[in-house]
Amino acid sequence: MLSTPAYAAQNAKSKLAPFSIQRREPGPHDVLIDIAYCGVCHSDIHQARDEWGNSIFPMVPGHEIVGKVSKVGSAVKNWKVGDTVGVGCFVDSCRECEACNAGEEQFCSNGMSVTYNGYERAGVKLDKSKPTYGGYSTRITVNEDYVLRIPDGIPLDRAAPLLCAGITTYSPLRHFGVKKGDKVAIVGLGGLGHMGVKLAHAMGAHVTVLSHSPGKKDDALKLGADDFIATKDADVFTKNAATFDFILDTVSAQHDYNAYLGLLKRGGTMCLVGLPDPTPLSAGPLIMGRRRLAGSLIGGIKETQEMLDFCAEHDVASDIELIKIDQINDAYERMVKNDVRYRFVIDIASLS
Ligand code: NAP
Ligand code: ZN
Repeated sequence: MLSTPAYAAQNAKSKLAPFSIQRREPGPHDVLIDIAYCGVCHSDIHQARDEWGNSIFPMVPGHEIVGKVSKVGSAVKNWKVGDTVGVGCFVDSCRECEACNAGEEQFCSNGMSVTYNGYERAGVKLDKSKPTYGGYSTRITVNEDYVLRIPDGIPLDRAAPLLCAGITTYSPLRHFGVKKGDKVAIVGLGGLGHMGVKLAHAMGAHVTVLSHSPGKKDDALKLGADDFIATKDADVFTKNAATFDFILDTVSAQHDYNAYLGLLKRGGTMCLVGLPDPTPLSAGPLIMGRRRLAGSLIGGIKETQEMLDFCAEHDVASDIELIKIDQINDAYERMVKNDVRYRFVIDIASLS
């Protein structure tokens, strides 16, 4: 085993602090990655604080991982030492179910092995004796099929957030067929939201940001939005009724879905990716206009690679604030207070 420095939460109330974990020596099909940077997703906070009620402690969060391959197993063909690679929200899946066969491993019916706060596998099933640990650590051993290639040209620190925030917004924009000229609204300008703006803009959509922070207007326009609506003004929901073909909702806190559904055109779709506490929903706004409410979860390996290549082609990367690992607890506080422009990324060199 490889003794590896990390940062962990010991329970839902504790701050993150130095911790040591054991990584497995690469097996024939494994790749060992020296982690350079890891993005900080709001899901890290939800889970470190057990806000979803499924947390496994001690927890080493982090699922926006980039770095260099430092060792490969004897049977690995596609990766070599020195390759620049990424790891997203899962590190394995059953490879047998319909979802895995369709390249949508995130919906694995035997449960994907999430990168942290989950379990490694014993064949098809999860092995509950082997918890997974994420990217707030100096290295990670991952099966070769769950590693992504980071294209040249994307600065590595700014690439890290693509592994979750990037794919989580790219996948629904593609799945629901957003195309040139469509009127798209991105709700919430945070880590996911700012990637949603950049990606929808690169796909040729007319992009509007709906934000409860009026001060983010200039940023929204710089990021590629065509328009900005401050949702604090009471009349915005009537003034902008039936405006959008597609709404992507990235908000991490409770808010009124019904009001936002009214902003969709007839037949329009609102897709949720933010995961707040349970939120009331009425049938009325869906029925009036045959509107659709959907959800989406990250993306499969194939689509994540497609997204990374799309970002390289369209010069898209995350806007980040680079931090040292000992700033992580402050970073969590700042994210909860909505004080991040637009993703914290940990320089993992500060952990070695
Ligand atoms: P984030 O950077 O903290 O951004 C969340 C945004 O929500 C904020 O920037 C803010 O935008 C808005 N917001 C926050 N509090 C609000 C409030 N009280 N009322 C209205 N709006 C509020 O978080 P993130 O990392 O982008 O993650 C967003 C959510 O997506 C989290 O719940 C996370 O767990 C979830 N997530 C889901 C997936 C998936 O696969 N579905 C993947 C990753 C993350 P404005 O200031 O512009 O209003
Ligand atoms: Zn995430």
